[in-house]
Amino acid sequence: MIQDIAPAVFDNVYKLTPPGEKDRIVLFAAAGRKVYLLVDAGEEIVLPPASLFASFHQEQAMLSSKLRLQYLFSIDETSYYTLVHDGSEAVFAEIEKVLGDAYELQPLFLARKSGPREDAFAVETAWQLYGWYRDNRFCGRCGSLMQPGVKERNMCCPTCKNTVYPKIMPAVIVGVTKGDQILMTRYKGREYGGHALIAGFCEIGETGEDTVRREVMEEAGIHVKNIRYYKSQPWGFESDLLLGYFCEADGDEEIRMDDDELSEAVWIKRDEIEEHFENMSLTNEMICHFKGEI
Ligand SMILES: [Zn+2]
Repeated sequence: MIQDIAPAVFDNVYKLTPPGEKDRIVLFAAAGRKVYLLVDAGEEIVLPPASLFASFHQEQAMLSSKLRLQYLFSIDETSYYTLVHDGSEAVFAEIEKVLGDAYELQPLFLARKSGPREDAFAVETAWQLYGWYRDNRFCGRCGSLMQPGVKERNMCCPTCKNTVYPKIMPAVIVGVTKGDQILMTRYKGREYGGHALIAGFCEIGETGEDTVRREVMEEAGIHVKNIRYYKSQPWGFESDLLLGYFCEADGDEEIRMDDDELSEAVWIKRDEIEEHFENMSLTNEMICHFKGEI
């Protein structure tokens, strides 16, 4: 899956170190899901050097600025940074001036398709952290400008002491089976048009297994039994932690599809599954696991 980058090692210990020569910046567009990559790099993902923006790596005393270079995490010897900013045209003009013409905006989903593998995972994970920093510049309790933590990754309000931590939303992916068939779906109105499995966010007060039962009932109108945990996957594109489960249809009910969310919900036989193992998403791995391909 996308997070499986061995032998490279992901290290999310929080640091305040300024960027070195090898370090990279994951720089996103002012609006929309786009990231700056080197022009003409072919299938490769080449991120700009973080050192271009070294002058925006500021001391704690200077954090009222509208542009700040933020350390994110490291993979092996490379540290990854992003820019936290106010999204204004003036600030973005300044960013593009520093960046020059060598880099252009590319769709975020490109990171799922291209290598090197650790940079695909870096872009995904940076997107989650970038969104969290962007949305927590101001205190949700009193409106003051928040400041990044010194010892750990959080944002702290100097006025009311409110402290917020990165947002991770747990969600389930469910492989519902009936004999040699698995329940496959397609989402309505999404960019991704391929097959999916039943999926949904955990609501407050639920266990993962409760969410499995509720989501399968809501999306397909089916009772389930024998719920077994499979694997999990961090999915930074949507700030999710995905929890994969398999379960069996309990009884022989017809599928009653949720027309608001899905365009298709059908039983597909194991030997008629068209998907092949891509080693990126938990959904794909679960489909291919049921198929017997992995
Ligand atoms: Zn506050």
